[in-house]
Amino acid sequence: MLKIGAHMSTAFGFANVVVKSAEIGANAFQIFSHNPRSWKIKTFKDEEFNDFRNNMNEFSFDFENTLVHSGYLINLASFRDDSWEKSISAMIGEINIMLKLGIKYYNVHPGSHLGKGEDYAFDRIAKALDKVFEHFDNTDFMILLENVAQKGNNVGYKINHIGEIIKRSSYSSRIGLTYDTCHGFDSNYDITKKNGVIGLLDEIEEHIGIEKFKMIHLNDTKYPLGAKKDRHELIGLGHIGLKGFENFLSFDEITKRPLILETPGDDSVHANDIQTVLKIFSSLKK
Ligand code: ZN
Ligand code: MN
Ligand code: MN
Repeated sequence: MLKIGAHMSTAFGFANVVVKSAEIGANAFQIFSHNPRSWKIKTFKDEEFNDFRNNMNEFSFDFENTLVHSGYLINLASFRDDSWEKSISAMIGEINIMLKLGIKYYNVHPGSHLGKGEDYAFDRIAKALDKVFEHFDNTDFMILLENVAQKGNNVGYKINHIGEIIKRSSYSSRIGLTYDTCHGFDSNYDITKKNGVIGLLDEIEEHIGIEKFKMIHLNDTKYPLGAKKDRHELIGLGHIGLKGFENFLSFDEITKRPLILETPGDDSVHANDIQTVLKIFSSLKK
């Protein structure tokens, strides 16, 4: 069975995310731990965490198929000490919420070097991640670095960037990968071709290790290969297209991982995207 879901709104509470996910035919999901556009970390009542975990059990959801996406203001590559430290504390605050929910995968974009260069960024990000892990000591969770579109001064648009950051951290075993199909297509990873997916998986194995590849953001894209735009599209309606996803989803190394939609639209749109993916997947098994 596929592990599939979407990025869900927490507007009606954490517990409601599980109910809504079940309603749209999902068994996986992603959430923000709080308002992603604010530095301020909200405080929640213990009851909210308990209700969430109860629903996870009641609806038979596996925590392994869930993740928290970081807020947007965090930049672990910033050379400005104040914003770098603010990013680290925000991340610690968000991971605290995540751990109370019982979730163990925290997804973050590597960051933007703001002109200091990619090599500077790899070191700076690795150091920031070390500080976060030092804070939590022996707690069991993973930070997943997400590949991004090659936009501005972003690092992490190539698999080897993420490998480099992981290698420079003292907590390598605790850092993994989320692969975003829209961002990847923006950066010339052509998953519409057999050889494209094989090449991608080879790169992941070479630079990161395939077992550290934990999650997939399944998005179509409004722009052609290599466009560097980061504009998500509904599954099948963009430049990856139905045929492209047919190819991508024909690989076991892809379909054994949770597929999380970040396609534009609300729950009903995501329900539709999930049906599209399930249809593609079942047509492949024949
Ligand atoms: Zn992201
Ligand atoms: Mn993504
Ligand atoms: Mn994006």
